[in-house]
Amino acid sequence: MTWHSPWSNPHWVCTIAAARGWLRAATGSDHDLVHTLVSDQNSRVEAWLSALEHPCRDVLLILPRCVKRRCCNVGPDGSLDGCRSCEACALGELARLAEHHGIRAIVAFRSHIAYAAARRDRPDLIIATACEDRLVKAMASVPDIPAFLAPLTGMERMCVNAELDIAWIGARLAAAAEGSREQNTGCDVTI
Ligand code: SF4
Repeated sequence: MTWHSPWSNPHWVCTIAAARGWLRAATGSDHDLVHTLVSDQNSRVEAWLSALEHPCRDVLLILPRCVKRRCCNVGPDGSLDGCRSCEACALGELARLAEHHGIRAIVAFRSHIAYAAARRDRPDLIIATACEDRLVKAMASVPDIPAFLAPLTGMERMCVNAELDIAWIGARLAAAAEGSREQNTGCDVTI
């Protein structure tokens, strides 16, 4: 099954940008629209993944810099290798999960670095978490690669000490690695 995304269409991107601007001006929030866009994206990826006849061979997990804690051992290249033995925060668990499933995991210190890594490496599948604005930018910036997306679940303040949905990400890592229809249950995103 070939991956198709409406985000490849510049008219779609412009229409969504206009709708978000209008909603923010008229209601103060585009939260519900972004929620719907992310859920639709995940449904498309789920359908695409379910139709694959083999597990994804190359999966890239991309995390934003705001999930990193001050004590983190994330390498300058964003590698989570140094987090595998750490129990202090969620990155250690994600690093171990990624290693278990043979999935590359990076912290992208800037969003354009994440987009550039995706375009350069062209993984079969991306799994990423970020704030709502960055998720929308991700869909528009790399529309040609399937990407499961999860909004961050909390934040101390903008771009600082963000929290993520480990269970949701872990389930997507397993589904991507094992390529099982049964694993691909549900893709609701709690924002
Ligand atoms: S809050 Fe958003 S913009 Fe700031 S680091 Fe996190 S994902 Fe990036």
